[in-house]
Amino acid sequence: MARVKTAVIGAGISGLTAAYTLRKSHDVTVFEAGPHSGGNAHTVDVPAPDGTRLAIDTGVVRLHENGDRELLRLCEELGASPVPVPEGVPATAIRCGGCGFSFTWPGATSPDGPAARPDVPSAKRTKFTEDFRKFGHLAREGTQTSLTVDDLVRERGFSPYFIEHVVVPLICVARAVSPPAARRFSAALAFGTSLRFGMSPGMPSSGWMRMAGGTRTYVDRLADGAAFRLSTPVDAVTRTAAGVDIRDASGTPHHFDKAVLAVPADRALRMLTHPTPAQSTALGAIPYDYNEWILHTDSRLRGADASVAYHMGSCADESADERAEITLHHNAAQEIPGPVAYLTTMTRGGARPDPRRVLDSRTHGCAVVTPGAAAAMARLPDIGDSTLAFAGAYFEPACGQGAGFVAGRNAAHRLLADRDTP
Ligand SMILES: Cc1cc2nc3c(=O)[nH]c(=O)nc-3n(C[C@H](O)[C@H](O)[C@H](O)COP(=O)(O)OP(=O)(O)OC[C@H]3O[C@@H](n4cnc5c(N)ncnc54)[C@H](O)[C@@H]3O)c2cc1C
Repeated sequence: MARVKTAVIGAGISGLTAAYTLRKSHDVTVFEAGPHSGGNAHTVDVPAPDGTRLAIDTGVVRLHENGDRELLRLCEELGASPVPVPEGVPATAIRCGGCGFSFTWPGATSPDGPAARPDVPSAKRTKFTEDFRKFGHLAREGTQTSLTVDDLVRERGFSPYFIEHVVVPLICVARAVSPPAARRFSAALAFGTSLRFGMSPGMPSSGWMRMAGGTRTYVDRLADGAAFRLSTPVDAVTRTAAGVDIRDASGTPHHFDKAVLAVPADRALRMLTHPTPAQSTALGAIPYDYNEWILHTDSRLRGADASVAYHMGSCADESADERAEITLHHNAAQEIPGPVAYLTTMTRGGARPDPRRVLDSRTHGCAVVTPGAAAAMARLPDIGDSTLAFAGAYFEPACGQGAGFVAGRNAAHRLLADRDTP
């Protein structure tokens, strides 16, 4: 019997997992817009001062033994080496250059903010302490998913100060999004996911794993057995009676029996020439936040000694959200020895690294889990079929590598379900 010809569009974790799952019975061709596979999971080789090369992950750095259990199991099967991240290193540090607020978690039981400052009026100090306690309980209570982070001020009585200094930074750091995007998140889902991954004040930061040698150790192994067309963006996907027609950006047509669309939801919708109403509604309800992430060695941006530092310029400045800097400290996060600090920074209007110290720069997009997006995610399992299936980390509110892995595997199973029927 002829093997099924299948296209996978997008070589992130979801597309690679689909290709890997299909490889035994399908001839798989992966179309990828960029020059490498892995999508957001990307390892860059940089020269170390001693002449050796360091493998630095510019996007995905960590997996969690609870949230990413199945992906970690597969990594071990593939011979990649997940190693536990030592618990001594603080995961997150938040600093405000205006009021002096500072919080390192885990490690500090309460922030060094207004609660600890005698010069701040006592009503404000009491409110901050109350908000901090309430925040810890919020996800466990099961707040309605229809409230955004910004709604917490009006609907739940949180102070704007608390939202700006604690809630927004924690979401930015956990979701790799900008502050304006963090404010649009469904509050319950943002907190619920943080709790699942142990990312909330007052909880220990345990269970994190990193890949010795970088995420490419599993990315490369998942890619085995498929044909790759790198630097080949797909412009159009048309479902026909005979299968799926694809047109790449050079205008070249390709025909396949089946396809998996494993690109971000906004890109998937743009590619479909005739989306069904269900596809338009669900994919169109998931917004994305695209940002430039710059790998560099400019230690002026090093921030605090934590895996990720969030630095707000000053809360007195109206454009504080736009000026915030998020810096990943690879030496801490990936246990890279000194003396050079390897950092990845995302900022819109804040300090930028010295161009002479920039090693790499790329744009990554993350789904913004608004209340509308959360509702749309529940409908995603219905938008594909056994000829054209969809996958991506956007299939689950957690939106991480583990979610992408599960979505890619499910999309492949969808295509395999009727492999003997025309
Ligand atoms: C800075 C940063 C750090 C992160 N850290 C972590 C972490 O530590 N742990 C974790 O679990 N998650 C992390 N995430 C989230 C995680 O990276 C993503 O959720 C996950 O990698 C997304 O996988 P995906 O397959 O859905 O999409 P992607 O990785 O985005 O892959 C989609 C692929 O489709 C390609 N594509 C797009 N359009 C086209 C087209 N027209 N034609 C062909 N190809 C196309 C893209 O080039 C891309 O390669 C992080 C995200 C960012 C931005």
